[in-house]
Amino acid sequence: MISPSSIELSKSCLKNNIDYLQKRIGKKVKFVSVVKGNAYGHGIEKYIPTAEDCGVDYFAVFDACEAEMVFNVKKPKSKLMIMGMIANEDLSWAIENDISFFVFENSRLKQAIKDAEKIGKPAKIHIEVETGLHRSGFERDALKKAVKLINQNKKHLFIDGVCTHYAGAESIANYVRVQKQLERFNEIKKWLEQRGIVPKYYHTACSAAALVYPETRMDLVRIGIAQYGFWPSEEVRMHALLSKDEDFKERPLRRILRWKSRIMSVETVEPGEFISYGNFYQATKKTKIATVPVGYSHGYRRSLSNLGYVLVKGKKAPVIGMVNMSVMIINVTGIPMAKKGDHVVLIGKQGKHEITVASFSELSNLVNYELLTRLPESIPRVVRK
Ligand SMILES: *Cc1c(COP(=O)(O)O)cnc(C)c1O
Repeated sequence: MISPSSIELSKSCLKNNIDYLQKRIGKKVKFVSVVKGNAYGHGIEKYIPTAEDCGVDYFAVFDACEAEMVFNVKKPKSKLMIMGMIANEDLSWAIENDISFFVFENSRLKQAIKDAEKIGKPAKIHIEVETGLHRSGFERDALKKAVKLINQNKKHLFIDGVCTHYAGAESIANYVRVQKQLERFNEIKKWLEQRGIVPKYYHTACSAAALVYPETRMDLVRIGIAQYGFWPSEEVRMHALLSKDEDFKERPLRRILRWKSRIMSVETVEPGEFISYGNFYQATKKTKIATVPVGYSHGYRRSLSNLGYVLVKGKKAPVIGMVNMSVMIINVTGIPMAKKGDHVVLIGKQGKHEITVASFSELSNLVNYELLTRLPESIPRVVRK
């Protein structure tokens, strides 16, 4: 069947983003692609092989279910880390399959040691330390216990990382907090070294930290939003612009996602007629309208009723009336050539215009994260050059 809409991923834009980021961050720093939240809505299944084609060979997810999805499509040599939730029951699966995971409390550490011993293969762990985000990470006392356990069980463990996560590196308002975290991390690092714990990678940076604070890059960066072509915030974009970065002129980050549908039908409406349910939109003159088979059940927000725009033949067409469950109506009076079957762009570029994910909702850049991950898994993803 032909789906009412599809999400296209541009491989050349992704390649561009990864090359730019790797260059900015430094060739020697390991690039880890964060693909939690269904690869920020881009779709794990298609995204992973595309990123591998662009040179990525290490992925990070939040939980074990996401890890399983990535595991099923990644190349055997690509690595995988779980940064958050994995039940103690699933640790043996991760160990058997060489999947590394964050450890931030001792129950998980103890179980990992037990399972590793049973399987006869070391558990690959990242010791996450608390530095000020107060989400997860070993606090001082728990870390002391962990170090004891680790040192007693060295042959059952491989220390892939010592890591932390910042409390909002995308905003200058958090500057002091981030600097304190970095300081704290470096103290803990020294303290662990003195106790014989030296990981393969020290890692702390997400996209914003990696772009704004070079000292947070260390051995490895965990890059989410930026690889998909979005600046974590306007401040981070301005920072790159002001850093006199040679590459900046050529739009260094490019959106790789485009959400497309097609016109289902067209109709002409007489002045005075109401369009769609209720009386939210009344035609004041002869109006050419088109239906698009995408509604709020597909992730197109109802709050865009009478407000949103889409692109048809490279021109903007307003959404009129209520967005329905499975269909919306657009005004194509200004596009007389519009006909059934024409492409409709809901997010992304067509001709000179672009519908951005942010304009798709409120004004803040931070909503990009939320809106992207809300794109339903059921919309087919298609990779193009
Ligand atoms: C989501 C996440 C990242 C990536 O964040 P971006 O801002 O998207 O780059 C990095 N590290 C951890 C622990 C995360 O949860």
